[in-house]
Parts: sequence; C-alpha cells; structure tokens
Amino acid sequence: MNPLRLLILAVLCYILYRLLTGDGKRVEKGGSSRLESRDVLVEDPVCKVCVPKKQAFSLEEHGKTTYFCSDECRKKFINGKGE
Ligand SMILES: [Zn+2]
Repeated sequence: MNPLRLLILAVLCYILYRLLTGDGKRVEKGGSSRLESRDVLVEDPVCKVCVPKKQAFSLEEHGKTTYFCSDECRKKFINGKGE
C-alpha cells in the first residue's frame, strides 16, 4: 500500500473524528476545574510556608483556626506557646 494513501486516510479519519466530537474547542477548556475555589492557601506561622488549606494541618483554639504545613510545625507551635 502507498504510504501517501495511509496519510490521506489518517487525515480523513481525523476530520471525521473532529466532526463527531464537536468543534474541537472543548479540549482547551476543562481539565483542572476540580481544584479551583476550594484550594485556598494558608500561611504556616511556624515556618512561614503557604500550604493549600485542604492539605494543611489545622489547630483550633479560642474559636480561631491556625493552619500548618505539617504535624511537626503544629507541635512546635503548641510547644512554643506553652513555654
Ligand atoms: Zn511548617
């Protein structure tokens, strides 16, 4: 078989595919719409690092929530306060 024919066939398949799947603009959008708005950054007061709220370790005291990058930082914060 002529390789050029294969190429034409491939192009035709591609065009057909595009026609079947809409205008093709769909691909650009979409993607990571799952982690928008809820992914708020919070600052760790111990090491001053910003971490996504969802991944942060939180400590609630006196009705105020403080967020940390790790359990280690949270412990440091608690220990530092006690002294
Ligand atoms: Zn930290």
